[in-house]
Amino acid sequence: MTVPGIIDAHMHYFDVEGFRETALAAGHENSAACWRKICRENGIVFAVAMGNTMDEPSFYGGVPPRLIDLAGPFDREHYNQPDDIGYCLGVMSEEIGEGQAEATAREFEPYLREPHCLGIKLYPGYNKVYANDRRHWPLFELARAYDVPVAIHCGDTARPQGLLKYSHPLNVDEAAVTFPDVTFVICHVGNPWILDACEVAAKDPNVALDLSGLLAGNVKPLLIYDDNRGYIRYLRTWLNYLGDYGRVMYGSDWPLVNIPAYIRFIAHTVPEEYHEDVFYRSALRIYKRIGPLLKAQNEGSPLPSYARK
Ligand SMILES: [Zn+2]
Repeated sequence: MTVPGIIDAHMHYFDVEGFRETALAAGHENSAACWRKICRENGIVFAVAMGNTMDEPSFYGGVPPRLIDLAGPFDREHYNQPDDIGYCLGVMSEEIGEGQAEATAREFEPYLREPHCLGIKLYPGYNKVYANDRRHWPLFELARAYDVPVAIHCGDTARPQGLLKYSHPLNVDEAAVTFPDVTFVICHVGNPWILDACEVAAKDPNVALDLSGLLAGNVKPLLIYDDNRGYIRYLRTWLNYLGDYGRVMYGSDWPLVNIPAYIRFIAHTVPEEYHEDVFYRSALRIYKRIGPLLKAQNEGSPLPSYARK
């Protein structure tokens, strides 16, 4: 595969027991050192981590964002996670009470002034709140003001307590139409509602897809090729129906999948002429803040400041 490097547009950088177990099942260890080794061995140059921490302080009477902590507790004043990882601010939608939506956006805004903060992440199936619920609107306005995307967990939920009616990718359509100048990312291609996810992206030009988490915990996806030929053909068929690989991003969902096996799986599924888009360029287009961070890393130039916005 000839790409300038791989950008993982969806992973987790969070220390929790459940992740430790699944990481072992996938042949990895949920640690900063393990991720570093994986990047070196697989040519991964940057990763987007979805915020998962639960106990951040509140400063404005709103609901604080979920952050990342695998390299130690998140330091709000000085970014202390790796320079080649950016993060999306996780939203605890179910906690946002009546009249708390604006205050929640105020909690989020200081993070968006820091270059490594790349976007906002919703978990509708787990929170039992629809993507386009009005309590999210001030966050969507914030995403518009800072020109960052809103990633949305779509499709199956990892726990039976989740509710699929909230996580179905069709729900992203309404948010995308209400906020046509905000980019929304349907995570996991809405798996298994791949057709629906691809149709929403085909209809709404401000919707992108990530291909993360389709083989969670499976260390032998090559076996899956034989058993699930139909699945791979289906995925490829609907990605081709969308017909715009510039809005399709490789993502893994690490530590939940084996990385070399997952890269092979996506490379096998996506036609070769689109590998550069899917493994690298699409992420630069959607998560616009990655480009300046990569440039700063390669040239030792100063980090961009969004504070003056
Ligand atoms: Zn994920």
